[in-house]
Amino acid sequence: MATEKKSAKLFKCPICGMFVQPKDEDFPFCSDRCRKIDLGKWATGVYKISSPVLDPEVLEDLGGSGTGRGGAHDE
Ligand SMILES: [Zn+2]
Repeated sequence: MATEKKSAKLFKCPICGMFVQPKDEDFPFCSDRCRKIDLGKWATGVYKISSPVLDPEVLEDLGGSGTGRGGAHDE
C-alpha cells in the first residue's frame, strides 16, 4: 500500500494562515492578494528596509500636482 498522496506537506500562508501547497503558483502565499499584502508591508515599513527606495516617477507625479484646470468653470 502506497500512500504518497497523503504525504504532501501543508504550509500556511504567512498573511492569512490559509493552507497552501508548494506547487501553488503563489507559494508561499495562498493567493496573489496575500502576496500583494506582503509587498505592501515592505512598502509601508513593517519590515525594516536599510534604505528607502524612492521611485523617480512617483516623485515626478507628486511634483506635478499644480496643473489643475482653473477658471474653466463658466456659469
Ligand atoms: Zn493568504
